[in-house]
Amino acid sequence: GRASSERNGQATETVEAEDSIEQFAEYRRLKTTMRQMLMTGVPNPFFTVHDGIVGDKTIVDGRELISFASYNYLGLSGHPDVSEAASAAVRKYGTSVSASRLVSGEKPIHGQLEKLIARWIGVDNSILMVGGHATNETTIGHLVGAGDLIVHDALSHNSIVQGALLSGARRRPFPHNDYAALDRMLGEIRGQYRRVLIVIEGVYSMDGDYSDLPKFIEVKKKHRAMLMVDEAHSFGTMGETGRGMAEHFGVDARDVDIWMGTLSKSAASCGGYIAGSDALVELLRYTAPGFVFSVGMPPAQVAAAMAAIETLEREPERVQRLRRQSDLFLSLCREAGLDTGDSSGTPVVPVITGNSMVALRLSNRLKADGINVQPILYPAVDESAARLRFFITSEHTDEQIRFTVAKTAEHMQELSVGSLELEVKS
Ligand code: PMP
Repeated sequence: GRASSERNGQATETVEAEDSIEQFAEYRRLKTTMRQMLMTGVPNPFFTVHDGIVGDKTIVDGRELISFASYNYLGLSGHPDVSEAASAAVRKYGTSVSASRLVSGEKPIHGQLEKLIARWIGVDNSILMVGGHATNETTIGHLVGAGDLIVHDALSHNSIVQGALLSGARRRPFPHNDYAALDRMLGEIRGQYRRVLIVIEGVYSMDGDYSDLPKFIEVKKKHRAMLMVDEAHSFGTMGETGRGMAEHFGVDARDVDIWMGTLSKSAASCGGYIAGSDALVELLRYTAPGFVFSVGMPPAQVAAAMAAIETLEREPERVQRLRRQSDLFLSLCREAGLDTGDSSGTPVVPVITGNSMVALRLSNRLKADGINVQPILYPAVDESAARLRFFITSEHTDEQIRFTVAKTAEHMQELSVGSLELEVKS
């Protein structure tokens, strides 16, 4: 829809106006993808309605399924103490703090949870934000800008990429987990930039692997960069007592400039935090747009996260149980010859099918067996990397895990033979 015309001797280009969503190419693409999915005869695997509390089990259409599709890693969402803490906070403070904390939304529990998270990780202070995604977006978007550089892992979560785009800084991904490539890159270009922010994740949520944090700390010190670690999937799951990657590697938490985490997973709540030095937290408290111009975290969410972390502090065996069940799941998958990629000692275990249709069919067959697991399809990952992603929880029994791996291996074998036959025929 482009046309050129000449006005005042200058070439101008006119484009066709689009004033309804139905005209958008991206909307038409979405509809095409959905039609194609419908034609396969496999039901839409998205927006499935779940009843009740999702832990090791879930309820779909009145049927109880073993669940491998929730972030409830430690079984703390639905824990009576956590639910009661949230209810008590609602009774005391209502369901909303009804203002930005900067102006009149500050409650005592906000500061208490921030201190608890900081102590838990081993840094000065922390700041809560209402969404995990928003935490990355606003923090990264705000701390660096034009003239600065953001280097992030190639498999970074969308919220990190969005924050980088918002910031206006130069953005360069480096190959997954490759601190040596990052070191070389910074060796060449560090000098051109004022601030350099390196962003990595604790546990990668698609692959269940993690990077060598001590090496990244070395690189960041060598190049006078700042290091940010997103602990969405490592907070509560990694380290002897669930304190995350610093505990896992035995490094001083102060060697990481910016710790980020979400409260929507192990902490059984919702929202995000940034933890680090007093200066970092003070700057964000007064200036980060997503904090200053957004409502304070609701009382129920604050109280739930606080109770979840306190429960974990009293019951570190939850983390050990999670580790044990994750290891069992992974080793059974390997024994059965399933491709689990680089998953290594984390509660995220992918089973790579290498084909979106196989992933879709596999998840559908497992559902018929009473197992709920999410397929991850192109374009969320490359077609050759299509997979089922299993989230393990501390609540899964050995029996549930053995049954699930056996069924997965059984169907996988049939489906891969089926897809080979298709290839030969076509
Ligand atoms: N960072 C990472 C690495 C994530 O996986 C997610 C979401 N799963 C987020 C940030 C955003 O967190 P939330 O879902 O709590 O908004």
